[in-house]
Order: sequence, then structure tokens, then C-alpha cells
Amino acid sequence: MGSNIQSQDSGVTMKKTALVLGAGGFIGSHLVKRLVDEGYYVCGADLKSPEYMNSFADQFWIGDLRNPDFVERVMYKQFDEVYQLAADMGGAGYINSGDNDAEVMTNSVLINVNVLKQAEKVGIKSILFSSTACVYPEYNQMNPDEINTREDSVYPAAPDTEYGWEKLFSERMYLAYNKNYGMKNKVVRYHNVYGPYGTWDGGKEKAPAAICRKVAKATDEIEIWGNGEQHRSFLYIDEAIKATIDFYRQDKYFEPINIGSERNVSINELVDIVCNIAGKTLTKKHIPGPLGVHARTSHNALIKNVLGYAPDEDLEYGLTQTYKWIQGEIK
Ligand code: NAD
Repeated sequence: MGSNIQSQDSGVTMKKTALVLGAGGFIGSHLVKRLVDEGYYVCGADLKSPEYMNSFADQFWIGDLRNPDFVERVMYKQFDEVYQLAADMGGAGYINSGDNDAEVMTNSVLINVNVLKQAEKVGIKSILFSSTACVYPEYNQMNPDEINTREDSVYPAAPDTEYGWEKLFSERMYLAYNKNYGMKNKVVRYHNVYGPYGTWDGGKEKAPAAICRKVAKATDEIEIWGNGEQHRSFLYIDEAIKATIDFYRQDKYFEPINIGSERNVSINELVDIVCNIAGKTLTKKHIPGPLGVHARTSHNALIKNVLGYAPDEDLEYGLTQTYKWIQGEIK
């Protein structure tokens, strides 16, 4: 594979190059498209191709980033930009049940160790690492009126999931490579990114996609985990991509930063918005299920300071795009 990669590289030296790890996933596939649109020569790697679109990547390598040999073949040279989005993750049904904790921690930490060691070996200067709002302590997310997800509130650490603990450890590892090897890695903490071409069934889907699917299929009733009063904020994919790229390309701030929306809605409200979009009136049936923290939303003072703006896309607009796409998939 290595020689194949190198021979394909010879005609593209004029273009800037980007490597996207996790390019077969939801955010990764959108990011690849955006970078190609910008004129980059984009290489992607993942266990799988994107499920719902053909990848726009110029090269796409299928393989397992837990395997150092595969990482060595993919990260065989310096790229202008490297985005590390690969992780074993999913929505509440996957992350909060506790059934997948050992796998989630082992798989994702192996990927991050391999990626950093190889980056240091070949002289890659900077990697964008995708962390999560799940790093924030549970004790600051008990009450919708008193949520604290300021970036510096992450310590004393008490994430409510092992997924969050792995991300927090890996954040620190990316920053340790900055300190010890002179890298310029950047860390973003995403808050519930959603939009078309994301997982919408099978157990790894997140709340907006799951609710769009349930509403699209329902005739009179919709099942909701818990009492529906869990509060979250949701970030539309296009805004997530823009803020990710803008943050990665700036050269003044190197600590982790939130990429999320500050609009806080309950799951019951989210259902109402989607029902409204669908033109349906459904009865909510509250059933037991994994819930996660009680209330979480983004805190955007820092991103406004660093980038000069914060995401503010209308939730209704984003959910309309997502609902239409999932409805089409179901049909
Ligand atoms: P996703 O699950 O759609 O994408 C992750 C990709 O990583 C998948 O395509 C998967 O196949 C790939 N992957 C997993 N293990 C791999 C391995 N061993 N080798 C190669 N590829 C592997 O998730 P996403 O929503 O696109 O999220 C991207 C990143 O952002 C993840 O790191 C996630 O933890 C983080 N994040 C996402 C959200 C969100 O709301 N989507 C929120 C917080 C953090």
C-alpha cells in the first residue's frame, strides 16, 4: 500500500494536502468534502467507507488505526493538515449503557497512541483532535439552570462516562506532545453535532437522528428515554466543520475549546420541534433507557474570543434538513 500511496502523490504537489482519520464517519465525511471543495488534496482513512455518501477523498484507505502498521502506512509523510476524528463512539444507547466501556476505552486510546507516535516519527507538526463535551464533570450538569461547561471547569475531573474519561486522557496526551515534542496540536470539544448523512439507526445514533427517525415512522405515539427533561444543545454539522477548520488554522490558542451551541432544549422540546417540522401530532410515551447527564450545553465565551464568532445556526433549520434526509432514507 505504501508505494501505491506515494506514486499517487506525484502529480499533486501543487495542492495543499490534508489527512482525515475517521473519514468514513459522520463529521469526517463532511470535513473531507469541505476540504476538497477548498482545493485540498485529501486522504482519508477509516475502518469503513461513509455509509450514506461516496467519499469525496482523493485517496481513501480502509484499515484499522488500532494497528500501528496501518497507521504507519497512512501517516507516512507530513501533511499540511491532519484531522483525527476516529473513535469508537455512539449515542447514549452505546456510550451510557456501560456495556461497551472496555471496548470504547481500549479502541480509542490505541488509535490516539498510534497516531501521536507516528506523527512524532515522521515530523507531522500539528493534529486536530476531536474531543467531546462528555469530558465535563457530572457535578456541573445536574440542573439546567446551573450548567457549567466553561473549558476550565473540566477539573476536578468527573466525566459521567468512560468515553469521556478516554477523551480527557487523550486530550492531555495531544497536549503533552506539544510540550515535549514541539507539536502544535489543537483540541476541540464537540457538543452533539447533528445533520444529514449521520447514523440514524442501529444503536449508535444520537438523539436528533433517533428522534427524526422515530417521528418519521410514527403514526400516533413516540417512545422517549426517561422523562424527556434531559437538556442538551445541538450543533448543525456545517457550523461544526467551519469552526473546526477555523480553530485548527489559527495560531494563537492551543488549549481545548468548545464547539457547540448555547441553545439549551429538553428532549421533550426537541420532539415537539421535529413533530412540528413533520406536521405530526404524537403522544410521548416515556420509557426507561440510558439518559446521560441531566443537563449540558456549550459555553461559548472562549470561542467568541478566539475566533471572533460562535455557532448560532437555527435549530429548526438544521432539524428540517436532517428530518428531510432521514425521511428520504426510510423511504
Ligand atoms: P462517527 O462514529 O460517525 O465517526 C468515527 C469514525 O471512526 C467511524 O467512521 C469509525 O468507523 C471510525 N473508526 C472507529 N474506530 C476505528 C479504527 N480502529 N480504525 C479506523 N477507523 C475507526 O462519529 P462522528 O460523529 O463523526 O465523530 C467524529 C469524532 O468527533 C469522534 O472522535 C467523536 O468522539 C467526536 N465527537 C463527536 C460528537 C458528535 O456529536 N458527533 C460529539 C463529541 C465528540
